[in-house]
Amino acid sequence: MPTLATVRIISAFSTPRHRIFSSLHKVIMDNVTPPKPGARAASSFVHDKAFVNGEWVPASSGKTFDVVNPANGKVIGSVPDMDASDTEMAIKVAYKAFQSWKETTAKERSVLLKKWADLVNQNREELAKLLTSEMGKPVAESAGEIMYGAGFLDLFAEEAKRVEGDIIQTPMKSRRILVLKQPIGVSGMITPWNFPNAMITRKAGAAIAAGCTVVLKPAEDTPYSALALCELAKEAGIPAGVLNVVTSSRDNASQVGKMICESPLVTKMSFTGSTFVGKLLLQQCASTVKKVSLELGGNAPFIVFESADVDAAVQGTMGAKFRCSGQTCVCANRIYVHESIFDEYVRKFAAVVEKDLKVGDGILPGTTQGPLINKKAVEKIDAHVQDAVSKGAKVVCGGKSMGGNFYEPTILTGVTGDMRCAKEEIFGPIAGIIKFKTEDEVVGLANATTSGLSGYFYSRDISQIWRVAERLESGLVGVNEGVISMPEVPFGGWKESGLGREGGRYGIEEYLEIKYVCMGGL
Ligand code: NAP
Repeated sequence: MPTLATVRIISAFSTPRHRIFSSLHKVIMDNVTPPKPGARAASSFVHDKAFVNGEWVPASSGKTFDVVNPANGKVIGSVPDMDASDTEMAIKVAYKAFQSWKETTAKERSVLLKKWADLVNQNREELAKLLTSEMGKPVAESAGEIMYGAGFLDLFAEEAKRVEGDIIQTPMKSRRILVLKQPIGVSGMITPWNFPNAMITRKAGAAIAAGCTVVLKPAEDTPYSALALCELAKEAGIPAGVLNVVTSSRDNASQVGKMICESPLVTKMSFTGSTFVGKLLLQQCASTVKKVSLELGGNAPFIVFESADVDAAVQGTMGAKFRCSGQTCVCANRIYVHESIFDEYVRKFAAVVEKDLKVGDGILPGTTQGPLINKKAVEKIDAHVQDAVSKGAKVVCGGKSMGGNFYEPTILTGVTGDMRCAKEEIFGPIAGIIKFKTEDEVVGLANATTSGLSGYFYSRDISQIWRVAERLESGLVGVNEGVISMPEVPFGGWKESGLGREGGRYGIEEYLEIKYVCMGGL
């Protein structure tokens, strides 16, 4: 399956002198699909400083770390490696800014958020190239993410104006009862690499709309998309100190996170990432009893019932499984297919995978499958395949590393519940298929996990559609749809997949405190 382009990239990856390619990399980022006349070059969004108090700042230690393109191993540039003391400084800045930001009107905040959204949309193509260069997903998918990300800013620009309190019927004639909703305060945020733009706007858009200020740590792999958002927030007129981004290497992530979780000046913590780290941060937040939102890992069932339109189910699986090379929290993880249509489904699915998926550098036109994020991810995926095969699974297609960070899109049949790919979040391009007989059996299997983020099923039986939608234990359910994330909806998980909701009108509630006011002596 490797294309000529892939082979070329892999050979560049293997050179020990990656650094010498960084200027060449900029040329690739900007010239593979040149900016439209009048548009900025993608490389002009590459910042080598973090963003605190409206200024571009280095780490107090002066240390930096390199950011690497996962498609070819080339260094794009470096950013400050900030630590706990830098984070504490940013928190103080955000706390000071909160004192004036909370006094702004919803309308004022709305206007600035709308401008920010417009700027992100206007620079969509160049931001997409930047995102692809640090994260790897195909540039068309990156452009989709930028629109999705801007969609949150646009949505929260509106929701800011709809935060409303209550007047409750009083049980005493001399009293009146009011309920106010007020911004919670400085909001600490930690975000992952797989959606380097949208996971930021989904949190920061809601917080800023509510009147909160932000200190955010992006993932080590993808700081540039976060810093580009800061640049555009500043250009939109969002005041200094309202949005602060502290960049850190993986080595410093735990001390930056601990400072965010344990600082008494931070009253809200929102995290998107692995369940393991989420649990750790939840413990750390206990010391200051912070309000916590967690968007954690999934283990999504994808069920194809006997009444399903098999072709539609195959197309749905393609989106639910292979988007972002399988590296999304809502990716199909366990594919259950009814025994009566199993062979037809597998045959059609394998044909579409072979025909439609093209592995390569995401910046090149035509690529549908970019690299995995790093070598560790490739090793994990390969270990999942080896584990499954050793326990009796059959490889229908793929099943091998392609060198560098690339892995073949893989279909396995004969998958059983004891295999790692059925028990753990795969986070890569493996589609493991399991045969089932009855609805009760498959719903039981689907729910037999500590995760509960998303679930999908294909059926044309309306009674079954209602039943199964209600019986699945997950925060999101796709019925005859494989890709269901939108800014307008409440996104979040049940069980160990998280706490709270992001997006839609529910998302802004996470950044509000409720205050009951009793007016007496009337
Ligand atoms: P991760 O290892 O948990 O990292 C996420 C973020 O946490 C990164 O910024 C990371 O920094 C930071 N971090 C790591 N260890 C930390 C610590 N001890 N203290 C404070 N911060 C720490 O997860 P990931 O591998 O990047 O992302 C993949 C996971 O995220 C998957 O499980 C996926 O399902 C989940 N996810 C969930 C959603 C959702 O909405 N539910 C969305 C996207 C992803 P470094 O990068 O510097 O290590």
